[in-house]
Amino acid sequence: MATCNCQTEVTEKLLENFKDKFPEAFLHKVNLTSYSLFINGTTGQCGSAYVVYYEAEAEYPLKKGGLKRKKLKGSIVANYCPFCGISTKEKGNG
Ligand SMILES: [Zn+2]
Repeated sequence: MATCNCQTEVTEKLLENFKDKFPEAFLHKVNLTSYSLFINGTTGQCGSAYVVYYEAEAEYPLKKGGLKRKKLKGSIVANYCPFCGISTKEKGNG
């Protein structure tokens, strides 16, 4: 999982910018929605990783004729931090 502090650091910077833009507001919050929580099945440790979500679709021909739109949703966990480029896989945890 994450081996750097970029998620925390980027969130803090965005939060500072958000507070600067809207100082009259309160209870500011920022959440990097591209990060998802994971639990390592081997170690039981919890962590977060940068995830790219995707949607795919195609026209699927039906046996009775005609077409049906097929949709697929999935996700890809990044092997490297998008901010600093460090590997997101800890040694031994693969
Ligand atoms: Zn990083």
